[in-house]
Amino acid sequence: MDQTLPAATGFLVSAHPGGGQGLAPVFATQGSHAPVAQALRSQTLDAVLVHSGAPERAVARSGDMALVLAGELYNREELVSVLPPGAGAGAGDGGDAHLLLALLKVYDLHAFRLLNGRFAAVVATGDRVLAATDHAGSVPLYILPAPGRVLAATEIKSLVPEAARTPPSGRPVPEARRVRRVPGVHQVPAGAVLDLDVRTGAAVRTRTWTPPVSRRVMAESDATTAVRETLERAVRARTAGTAPLVVLSGGIDSSGVAALAAAHTEGPLDTLSMGTDTSDEFAEAGVVATHLGSRHREITIPTADLLGQLPHAVWASESVDPDIIEYLLPLTALYRALDGPARRILTGYGADIPLAGMHREDRLPQLDTAVALDMATFDGLNEMTPVLSGIRGHWSTHPYWDRDVLDLLVGLEAGLKRRYGRDKWVLREAMSGLLPEETVNRPKLGVHEGSGTTSSFSLLLMDAGIPEADIHRAKRLVVQEIFDRVVVEGLPPAEVATADAVRQVADRLKESE
Ligand code: ATP
Ligand code: MG
Repeated sequence: MDQTLPAATGFLVSAHPGGGQGLAPVFATQGSHAPVAQALRSQTLDAVLVHSGAPERAVARSGDMALVLAGELYNREELVSVLPPGAGAGAGDGGDAHLLLALLKVYDLHAFRLLNGRFAAVVATGDRVLAATDHAGSVPLYILPAPGRVLAATEIKSLVPEAARTPPSGRPVPEARRVRRVPGVHQVPAGAVLDLDVRTGAAVRTRTWTPPVSRRVMAESDATTAVRETLERAVRARTAGTAPLVVLSGGIDSSGVAALAAAHTEGPLDTLSMGTDTSDEFAEAGVVATHLGSRHREITIPTADLLGQLPHAVWASESVDPDIIEYLLPLTALYRALDGPARRILTGYGADIPLAGMHREDRLPQLDTAVALDMATFDGLNEMTPVLSGIRGHWSTHPYWDRDVLDLLVGLEAGLKRRYGRDKWVLREAMSGLLPEETVNRPKLGVHEGSGTTSSFSLLLMDAGIPEADIHRAKRLVVQEIFDRVVVEGLPPAEVATADAVRQVADRLKESE
């Protein structure tokens, strides 16, 4: 079996009493579409899956329970080990959907507390519909509940036409974020299961993961060993026996992943770096590629092209946060330039959140405040979304946001994160034997900085006459404007021009003066 991609990478689901219903999915995620219809005792589960060849492995059915799963699990062996003898036997090789079904039979929705994965899932059983995210909500999941029908999808744009037709039920979905300008659609929170009644649309939320709020004291060598071993397991689980591609900046985060992946790959590893005509990290990434002996490629994207792809970044991520879009834009451009067969891609994304790497902060109280705040506010930003690489048919996965790695990193006391005047000390120390010294000691440089994205986006706005003091606000408005075109109105991103959105925002700001 080709394990380059999970069995499904996205879905649109409708659960309803009575017969089958036609679905009209809209996905930015590239792939074939497979229809699914499962008639249960008191409801029918209709779905369309986005897949790359084996959609049946993303569906499981037993008795009065059926489910669809987009994404994959990383602790399969652990999971099989808790199943009763017999139940576990077939579950392991029937694919992740079958394994999840077997766990649901034993644990009901508490099965989701056991999973370490990157997935979104919908389960139908009895009169219930369960909509579940992984611990980090890394595969965004949206629902449109109404009396007599629950819709769920991994992309907002698949729910927009139905949202326009469905009178809003008026029922609040507990603690779920509403989607901007799409009435009735809510995002399922990270690390949560919504248990919905298909007859009424009422929902009850159960949390399956929360970020640790306590901190562990560990000896230096115990902490660095734990970080190296846990990260190594996360990388190994994500390479899934294939030769992955690592998107490599030459910073410690992606270089660490590349070094661990190289150790688990037969033959040379593939690495890929992007830069623009104004800025790149090619020299630093090159040092790592040479050290690891990887097959390395550089892609240079003209800044005007990069900014022109803002609509693609918003279309893929469905995020309205301008800071997140600045991180995701260079990666969107990188993935779009990556032609050829589907690849399994490993990134170093997200290490800075549990380690407070972005805060360049020396004082431990401030550092831990930043970690606590970032871990309390990441949900709904969609920065880990697989759709970003999915728009070219690739599958990306982020080892630093593996559930075990994240639990460990968040939970380390702040003095292990900043130590001897160095940021991300525990990670740098854990990787010190595997990478050149200059890489281990290299100061942090964010992807939005290394590619010049933040500064060139600012310049674009200033050139449109927006005063410097208004730049951040204007970026938010430009991103919202683009979101309204490509997500709410459903225009193809190629038909939406960044320049038009900038001009509109500039005019609006001038009028309001
Ligand atoms: P550091 O935090 O020390 O800079 P890093 O560069 O690996 O390490 P980020 O800057 O946070 O991490 O970037 C996030 C991730 O995005 C990287 O780990 C890498 O996978 C990817 N990335 C960033 N910049 C590039 C680039 N220029 N080319 C390819 N991938 C990149
Ligand atoms: Mg970097």
